[in-house]
Amino acid sequence: MNPTVSTPSRRIIPIRLMPADQQRSLAGRYAWWVKMLAWIFFAWAFLGWLNDAWLYRFGTPLWLNRYTEPVIILLFGIWRIMAEKNAYTRRRLIFLVANVTVLWWLIPWGHPFIEPHAGYLAGLPAFPSLHSPGTLTFFLVLAAVFLFGRRIICGWNCPCVGIREVVGFPFRHTDHVPRSAWAWRLRHLKWFWFALYLGAMWAMTRPANNITSGYLGFFAMMVVLPYFATMLLSPWIGNRGYCRYLCPYGATFGLLNRVGMFRIDYRADLCIQCGKCEKVCDMAIPVWRMGAANQGRVDTTECMGCGRCITECPTGSLAFHDARNLVFPALRQDREHLLQRSDFSRTAVRWRTAGFFLLLAVVLGGAVYYSSQVGTWGELPTRLGAICGLPLITW
Ligand code: SF4
Ligand code: SF4
Ligand code: SF4
Repeated sequence: MNPTVSTPSRRIIPIRLMPADQQRSLAGRYAWWVKMLAWIFFAWAFLGWLNDAWLYRFGTPLWLNRYTEPVIILLFGIWRIMAEKNAYTRRRLIFLVANVTVLWWLIPWGHPFIEPHAGYLAGLPAFPSLHSPGTLTFFLVLAAVFLFGRRIICGWNCPCVGIREVVGFPFRHTDHVPRSAWAWRLRHLKWFWFALYLGAMWAMTRPANNITSGYLGFFAMMVVLPYFATMLLSPWIGNRGYCRYLCPYGATFGLLNRVGMFRIDYRADLCIQCGKCEKVCDMAIPVWRMGAANQGRVDTTECMGCGRCITECPTGSLAFHDARNLVFPALRQDREHLLQRSDFSRTAVRWRTAGFFLLLAVVLGGAVYYSSQVGTWGELPTRLGAICGLPLITW
């Protein structure tokens, strides 16, 4: 019989638990050939970028350029979505793969256009420039992260989480993810990259000269090379090594995790200290121990909001807390809530998903239209920038 979870404010609802050996969210062990396959596709994505940036072989076709990575994410993503047993993770993967496919591949590759931005950027930003300070989408993303947490990007919308989740899943097991106390301390490494990023923000808002363009070139290498190196090192540092230790953007979003409205609530009265929440966390966060030590708040820069700890907690001890709780104070975004919102047999879930894909189609259609009209609509970025009060608008 399925176990049930009750909270004081909710009725008792049966929760569908998979047998432990089927719960891929529990970061299972995989055969050597699955790991080898994953590693080969990591290397392939790296070769694609290398060819596009430096080697220029074979005319940089889709199978060997910077867009090879999102193609790999789409192909593996379909496989992972079909294999995933955790309903919430499956829904997240559907949205994640769709976002990466449209926003990080189809638009910048097939219909590139430049969005308004403040100051000078070494490579002009295509839309959407989620990581480029000074662009409109960057500011919108910061606001969204403040309200809903780092999961807006690091859980649902970044090629990094895309490839590391759908290709890097064999390296999620504790065999591969360092979880010792010293490995936890190493998370502070990312502040060095964050300092480099602050320098890049400064350079991006200056006029172009040898110093700013030289620094931005250096910064780009300091981001891209570790990005791919950590993929290749996944068997030793886990699938999210880059996000844990080195990503300057993740550090920025993580700061907003702390000062913003996102956190995970922990109920000690329900917890049986089974440790599953920590076992499934790719960021190796000591989830329940942090909650117990901080009066029920798991409030950390590291959490990228995948929700696995919540949906795998057998007693419903954990729950997301974000801006929605301001409007609905009684809302408890626990396991029961997340799984219900991921149940595609429910009409509301189907409508919400259809709405998301409609929105994505509108964005794609808008990009196609805009890129085809750039001659007549070319002043739009400047006008938009003027409306937003950005001082140095170029495009
Ligand atoms: S930590 Fe950085 S690389 Fe990882 S998902 Fe977040 S923004 Fe992307
Ligand atoms: S999974 Fe739930 S019950 Fe188990 S230790 Fe974590 S919070 Fe406690
Ligand atoms: S604490 Fe939970 S939601 Fe946050 S990264 Fe870890 S498993 Fe995901």
